[in-house]
Amino acid sequence: MASKIFHGDISPSDFANALVSRFNQNNYTTKVISNDKQVFVQITTSNYRSSGGHTSLTVSLTPVEDGVSIDVSKQNLFGVVASLGQTAISTLLNPVNLITRLDDLAQDIESIQLSDEIWMVIQQTARGFNASHQLSDRLRRLVCGYCGTANIVGESRCIACGAPLGDEQPTTCRFCGYVIHTIDKICPNCGKNL
Ligand SMILES: [Zn+2]
Ligand SMILES: [Zn+2]
Repeated sequence: MASKIFHGDISPSDFANALVSRFNQNNYTTKVISNDKQVFVQITTSNYRSSGGHTSLTVSLTPVEDGVSIDVSKQNLFGVVASLGQTAISTLLNPVNLITRLDDLAQDIESIQLSDEIWMVIQQTARGFNASHQLSDRLRRLVCGYCGTANIVGESRCIACGAPLGDEQPTTCRFCGYVIHTIDKICPNCGKNL
């Protein structure tokens, strides 16, 4: 799944705190790993199947220019752990030889449900911080290439010198929040038609 970008005055740890406080109870356990920039929250179901294992998803929170880029995935925790130079967390390993195809399917369904719940918490958190897929005020400026004046996005000509500002106006994909240009037809992040 493509990452989603939330623009506004919000940091990776704001999302991480919300996810931990929502999921670190009853049926889930959470683990947070971070380096100086990114924060990773791994959420695992705690009901252990007789012949299966836990369902586990990792939320990657990466700061971008005016917000946070978020990715939810099944696989990347080991990559994350490796790249951060930490030892693998053995409790995450499923006893693969015991998992039947049926349990795989059950786990897929469980992980889709977990993924939906995670995105719900992310959306709620973003709303609480007034962050959205729209450009924040900080990025709603387009600097004129001729005189350096900051213009409001959407102006066709520079308010100071009258130079054309062209089609390079930044905007965002309404599906994922990725910063694109008005001339783009397809979002380079999520691939949807704009
Ligand atoms: Zn100008
Ligand atoms: Zn997109």
